[in-house]
Amino acid sequence: MTGTLSYPFPDIPPTASRHEVAPGVYWLRFPLPFALDHINLWLLRDNTGWTVVDTGLGVRPSQKIWKALLAEQLDGLPLTRVIVTHYHPDHLGLAGWLQQETGAEVLISRGEWELTNIICDAPEADTIERLRTFLGGHGLRGENLDKVAGKGNGFRRVVQPLPVSPGFLSAGDSLSINGQCWQVHVGCGHSPEHLCLYREQDHLLISGDQVLPTISSNLNVRAAEPDMDPVTDFVDSLKALRDNLPDDTLVLPAHGLPFRGLRARVDALVEHHDEQLDRVQSACRERPQSAFDILPVMFDRKLDVQQLMFAMGESIAHLNCLMQQGRVQREQVDGIWRFSA
Ligand SMILES: [Zn+2]
Repeated sequence: MTGTLSYPFPDIPPTASRHEVAPGVYWLRFPLPFALDHINLWLLRDNTGWTVVDTGLGVRPSQKIWKALLAEQLDGLPLTRVIVTHYHPDHLGLAGWLQQETGAEVLISRGEWELTNIICDAPEADTIERLRTFLGGHGLRGENLDKVAGKGNGFRRVVQPLPVSPGFLSAGDSLSINGQCWQVHVGCGHSPEHLCLYREQDHLLISGDQVLPTISSNLNVRAAEPDMDPVTDFVDSLKALRDNLPDDTLVLPAHGLPFRGLRARVDALVEHHDEQLDRVQSACRERPQSAFDILPVMFDRKLDVQQLMFAMGESIAHLNCLMQQGRVQREQVDGIWRFSA
């Protein structure tokens, strides 16, 4: 058993208004049109202007909220800097638009920016074909495959326009905001080079999707890198945060409520992935299983198309991890990878 979390800010700020959670640090909440129905952004005040961490999905309703914020919530100071924790559209979506609207500089990690460009440059037909081959090879067939792969490259529709010439942050960098130092920490597994920001003076961590209080961040295997092992990357990154930051850190996540209890949360997440790995390995001991066969072993709920895509990613990720650890082997039968323990 692990310890419990505390939530010192249980009241969610209304849309288009800010809520101070620490000196000069404000919480914004934007709606998302998904099962995960919101994202938190963090506004940091400096004498000369504001920094925002993450931007919201690149769609009109989020632009509308931003227009209201820019007009009414920034005390007449400009938005000067946009930091993007990682490439996912709810985080990166409006970075380019905010850059155009305000002239703010955009900062991201090199790894996230490279992947953004790879995804945006891939021709639609290639993306669909590669996804069909990859997921088909992991047992997703028929109507399910058509629905999931047919979505194609939706990324560009919700990340518009892309930022121009962003600057880069990497692990070990620091930023001075209002005379206070924010250290850059980098995590992997959920995305290639995910930025987190830590303010040492009062133990604040803007964690993005790297550490979330109630859900486990999606771990996905990309068709272009079919053997990657994001589970090990993610767990190692979490342990590094746990071991490097104090347990009284106030974690400001991209989804859910701000919380304290970093150690307990990391331990619970590590335990969750260990249990999933054990469950998947046991199923592979009974008979050879494809990643698609494994879904009911890992998920006890009905999955819509978007969730099916995420779930296939998780399933392949855990099987790849077991492969790396030598706990399962795989064999291709009739064009489908089947894993046995
Ligand atoms: Zn994400």
